[in-house]
Amino acid sequence: MEYRRFETIPEKVSLLGLGGMRFPVLDDQPDRVIEEGVQALVDHAVSRGITYFDTAYSYHGGRSEEVLTRALGKYQRDTYYLADKLPIWLIQEEGDTERYFQEQLERCRTEYFDFYLVHSLDRLKYAICEKFHVFDKLKQFQAEGKIRHLGFSFHDTPELLEKIVTDHQWDFAQIQLNYLDWEMQDAKGQYEILVSHGLPCVVMEPSRGGALIFLPESAAKSLKEVHPEASIGSWAIRFAASKPGVLCVLSGMESEDIIDDNAAAVTGVKPFDRREQQAVEKAAENFMKNKMIPCTGCAYCRECPKEVNIPKIFAAYNQYLAGRDNFQFYNAYSKIKPEERAVNCVKCGKCMERCPQSIPITDNLATVQKLAEQINGNRPSNWGEL
Ligand code: SF4
Ligand code: SF4
Repeated sequence: MEYRRFETIPEKVSLLGLGGMRFPVLDDQPDRVIEEGVQALVDHAVSRGITYFDTAYSYHGGRSEEVLTRALGKYQRDTYYLADKLPIWLIQEEGDTERYFQEQLERCRTEYFDFYLVHSLDRLKYAICEKFHVFDKLKQFQAEGKIRHLGFSFHDTPELLEKIVTDHQWDFAQIQLNYLDWEMQDAKGQYEILVSHGLPCVVMEPSRGGALIFLPESAAKSLKEVHPEASIGSWAIRFAASKPGVLCVLSGMESEDIIDDNAAAVTGVKPFDRREQQAVEKAAENFMKNKMIPCTGCAYCRECPKEVNIPKIFAAYNQYLAGRDNFQFYNAYSKIKPEERAVNCVKCGKCMERCPQSIPITDNLATVQKLAEQINGNRPSNWGEL
């Protein structure tokens, strides 16, 4: 395992961190986390030298904090770093910051967070932050020793990022950084702003919710040509970990094998050479040609009043786009409950307010629905109705 230290973060933080957003679950229900599964993942992560564990108030329907910290309970508190996040969208009055923070300490059965972030800042959430003096309150908790390092996670433009890091004194920031978003969502610009302010960068979505692990053949080809032995997923981890301003790369590792593969990817990591850089640029270019929906599967949009399962629908569609295989789509789409499919969308727009990727969800759902109807109309007699 590789470790990094920065002026504002003198601790020995593992370059790979375990994200608490994609734990194994029962019956596809986000809040039905399989605790033994989490324990096995945490134990394996610790055995591989991982010291950074990330969770949030909202992950797994509010269960992630509790389950993750229960799994960490057998380890001494000062042997790992716990990162948690304030659900800024729930703050409606001055006292809420303290209320949620206190609840999080209790859920995690801890007296302090090593890393604490304002979750998912964008223009609207930053306005909430300013209106209710959230930063001042968190600074107070920091002075009281309840927060070791204060930061924020971010989903918006480089201009807003520049403003946020100039307005207040943070210790670190978390951004979405991967070789697809490097140009597409200007992750490069965001990364450079953090470096120019001397702020260590925690990386989220290094593999874009798995999209950069299961690349379409046309996109994977350029990577295989350069390092035939390396897994496709390891490229995504290495791309992020190779950036010198990066403190930790968070990965929602769902199995011990993935932990091993990711840990190997960050070990002895070096900046990409020209061939490697060209290979990921080519992979990103070919990925974009497939016109996939840039959904990371974060499930922030799951509060749909009609219970439309947007991440699953988009995953089925993206899978289809990789090979244009009707049966593959039929197979994946038929596993989504009828009441959770695209046809149930009433275009209320609620989901789009929550999507950190600014995806035009309703338009994309309409596209998927059209495909489902087409496939339905031409399906062989042995396929059931979609
Ligand atoms: S626009 Fe459709 S998918 Fe989005 S929240 Fe409303 S009903 Fe649900
Ligand atoms: S549509 Fe947006 S909010 Fe929903 S899972 Fe995808 S990226 Fe997340």
